[in-house]
Formats: sequence, structure tokens, C-alpha cells
Amino acid sequence: MKRALVCVILLVMPVRSVASPHAPRQAQGSRLSDNPRVRAALDWFTPNISWVNDQQARITEIPAPPFQEAQRAAAVKELLAEAGLTAQIDKAGNVIGELRGVNEKEIVVVAAHLDTVFPPGTNVKVHRDGSRMTAPGISDNGSGVAALLALARAVQFAHLKPQRTILFVGDVGEEGEGNLRGMRAIVDNYRAKLKAAVVLDGSGTEHVTTKALASRRLEALITGPGGHSWSDFGMPNPINALVRGSVRFINTKVPANPRTTFNIGQIEGGTSVNSIPHEARLKVDIRSESEDELTRLESALRECVIAGVRDEMESARDRSKGKLEWKVELLGSRPGGELAPDSPLLAALRAADEFVGNQSRMERSSTDANIPLSMGIEAISIGAGGNGGGSHSLQEWYDSAGREIGLKRALLTILGISGVADEKSR
Ligand SMILES: [Zn+2]
Repeated sequence: MKRALVCVILLVMPVRSVASPHAPRQAQGSRLSDNPRVRAALDWFTPNISWVNDQQARITEIPAPPFQEAQRAAAVKELLAEAGLTAQIDKAGNVIGELRGVNEKEIVVVAAHLDTVFPPGTNVKVHRDGSRMTAPGISDNGSGVAALLALARAVQFAHLKPQRTILFVGDVGEEGEGNLRGMRAIVDNYRAKLKAAVVLDGSGTEHVTTKALASRRLEALITGPGGHSWSDFGMPNPINALVRGSVRFINTKVPANPRTTFNIGQIEGGTSVNSIPHEARLKVDIRSESEDELTRLESALRECVIAGVRDEMESARDRSKGKLEWKVELLGSRPGGELAPDSPLLAALRAADEFVGNQSRMERSSTDANIPLSMGIEAISIGAGGNGGGSHSLQEWYDSAGREIGLKRALLTILGISGVADEKSR
């Protein structure tokens, strides 16, 4: 997930009990933190922040390009096992560490995606300067994975037994063409038991994603015979056709409300400067608060590609040398969905916010939470604490100052929805 960080975090001292009979959510948060084991887990973070930072740097330095998360997954599996969880890697490549609850028939998933947007060969060495770390992927999602490990450690340290089973998941395929395949597999495999999912993505504590932004990714491909720039001049040119079609597409009007966006993110093709290319392709990401607008934009892209091909064929001097072919393919789609305003998961998050003295705003975004939300399963995506920026760029940074706020917030949210076993049922 890419996000611009404009954080105004109100950090106040933890408010334990501003008792009000009309504040059941706070009562819930307070009760939870009155439990000595929950207290012990909450207290684990502050003295262990440098351990968390070290794990974040170590994980970030293991490359995890799209579809190549295996090495990072193996390291996370080892760390979850060290924390005392039963850890395994599923067929999709997800790491799953299980903390068995009293009620094994109900599951809460805590997930952080392992993959980055960066291709193999990217320099992922972490540069550290005080609490600040710089490296591609350090925040998205080094901070989420580090938080996942910290949460697992904290609950094990406190010998916490949840009511519902908690699965700590490092999932694959969140970014780009991964098309959320890791989370799709998790939801598929545990669907009957899955009650809620908490996704840890990126840094910060200022937001909670409760609405899943629907998106589609498309690829347009135009092919032709190809030839020599001089001797075959006038032959239809796939790049020309693609450019003609692209110019039409970027002039498509999209509504501000429902907010709808498009981005030509990649364009490639051609053989050399003095060759008429035999193919050209582009990749487009479209997003909208409305599925109808997505469908409209997808049709617009097809129409523009057809028109681009037609314009190029019409202006070609020599059509006898072959014609252009085109196709537009759906590379992936992320379904939309929304968390109900009265959902217990949102109440757990609000109680956690109140406990740590945090204020967060609700957001719509495209994250791993899209999959459970689209199926009516409660899910949110939150930042893992600290601060970060430059997501998806080589200048990506993360500052761990204050990260324990985010860790405590995540822990209380998770335990709020999983429940904690009372001492008798342990
Ligand atoms: Zn992310």
C-alpha cells in the first residue's frame, strides 16, 4: 500500500480509566488491560524496541520481490517458531504461526505482507541513523512484519491464551500483480472458521482502513509485423498505435465523486531505435469507490486501444505489409467491501485507540483486507506504528520513535477481537 504520510498523531499519556458508564468501548479496553497477562504483553514492547528494530532491518535486507518471497518467508517462519508458535508455510507460500485458543473453531488472522514492489537486484541494504532506517521496503512492509514478530513474542512472553485461535501470518503477493494471492489463499483455507482479520501494513497509527478500495489492473498489447525504420517506413507501428490510444485514454473524464482514478504505470516495447517494433504494451491501474465506474473505465481502455489501432492503420502508407493485432487483458482485480460501523472489530480498535491515547481516522484503501471485507468477514488494515515515508521508492524510510504506541494498539485490537481466556479455562 502506498500512502503519503501527513501524520498528526496526538500522543498523550495512556488514559486508563476516565470512567463513564456510557463508554462501553473504553470499558472493554480497560478491562482487557486490567488482565495481568495482557499487561505483561503490553509491557514487553518498550524494553524490546531495539530487538524489534533489528528484526525489521534483518527482514528488510532479505529481498522479497513479487513472486520471490520464499527466502524471507523462511526467515519469518524461523522467528515465529522461536517465539514458540507452531509455524508452517502453506502452498501459496504464506508463513503461518498458530497460537491456539480455547475455541479452536474460531480464528482471528493477524497478517503482514512479506513482498515488496522492488525487482531482484535492488539494493536493500538498510542504512541506520539513530531511530531512522532507510531502505527500499523498510516501512512497506518491513514495519508490518517486524510488528507481527513483536506481537507474537509479546503474547508468548506473557503466556497469553486467547479465546479464539490467532494465526500470525506473513503473506505473499500483496503488491501489484501478486493480486492479493496470499490473502486469498488464507481466506479460502480458513473461511469457515475465520471471524476477523487485522492487517499490519506500513507505519503510523493515524488511520484505520475499514473500506476496501476496488481496483483492476489491465494490460494492453498491440502487435504487428515489425520492420526497418527506413525501408519499411509507412508500415503500421504498434508503438504509434499504443501512443494514439493512450492519449485518448488519458483524456477520459472520471468523476471526483465517487472518486475514480487511473494510472498508466508501465509502457514498453520495441527492439531498437531504427526498427519498427513488432509489439508494444502498457499496464494500467484503475481504482474507484464504485464498481460501475471501474467497469466503465475498463471499457474505455478497450475502446481507446481499438481507436488507436484504427487511427494508426488509417494513416499507415503501406497496409500491404501487414496489420496490427490488439488485446486487453485483466491482470488482476481487487474486490471492494466495507466494515460495518457497529462491527466488534472496529469497537476493539477504538477501545485500543482510547487506551493508548490515539486518534485515528477511517480510510478507504486497497490492502489485504479487501479479500475478507469483500466476503463479509470483518477486517481492517492499520499501520504498525512509528513513522515512515517514500513508500515504493528507493528513498523509503522508517523512524521507530514512538513505535510502541502502534504495537500496543495492534495488540489490544487483536486481543479485543480474539478474547483472552480466563484463568480457569487455561
Ligand atoms: Zn504494503
